[in-house]
Amino acid sequence: MSDNRIPGSLLNIIFKSVEDQLGERGLKMLLTQTKLTCYIQNPPPDDDTPTLDMDRFKSAMGAVIELFGEKAARPLLTRWGKLTFDYALESNPTLFGLAGFATKFMSEEGKARFILKRVLKESENLYGVPHVLTETPDAFNIEIQNCFYCGNHKSNQCICWPPVGFWKSMMRWATGKDYDVHETECIAMGAESCKYVIPKKAMA
Ligand SMILES: [Zn+2]
Repeated sequence: MSDNRIPGSLLNIIFKSVEDQLGERGLKMLLTQTKLTCYIQNPPPDDDTPTLDMDRFKSAMGAVIELFGEKAARPLLTRWGKLTFDYALESNPTLFGLAGFATKFMSEEGKARFILKRVLKESENLYGVPHVLTETPDAFNIEIQNCFYCGNHKSNQCICWPPVGFWKSMMRWATGKDYDVHETECIAMGAESCKYVIPKKAMA
């Protein structure tokens, strides 16, 4: 049984950001390296159709980081996260429209909490791995168990940039301000799961 989860639209977003940054040849190189050459002739469907299984997605993420190196992969994957949020916003007007309305008179912290809970639930459903939210007086803490962004890659730094880009964009959308979203523990560094912090105070 195939366990496809990753929607074609998300693949298209990452292919597009690779092409923007590295041209058509860069994209071809990536697809060859990640054994996704079938998409050179036939691009994935540009909608929610589940297209790729988690294992292949995971090894594709690892290959992106290995192929481009961590330094180049970082802006690429952060941007992918941002574009993924833009896409979510467009493709899920009910969720975000409702959230915008319901949080109108809330504090920034209240807005962040409201939208974060719903977005993490959506991600959990989409990717099928736990996204656990806890908080302290100063910050929201997110843990992704069995994180797939690090894709079996080993590193001496945190490398799960897509969700960081996603939540940065989400916070900006919800509050109009920039937050220092960052990863604090990463499976790539030997941690048990990947952990992220969203400070409750915006950057000055
Ligand atoms: Zn990770």
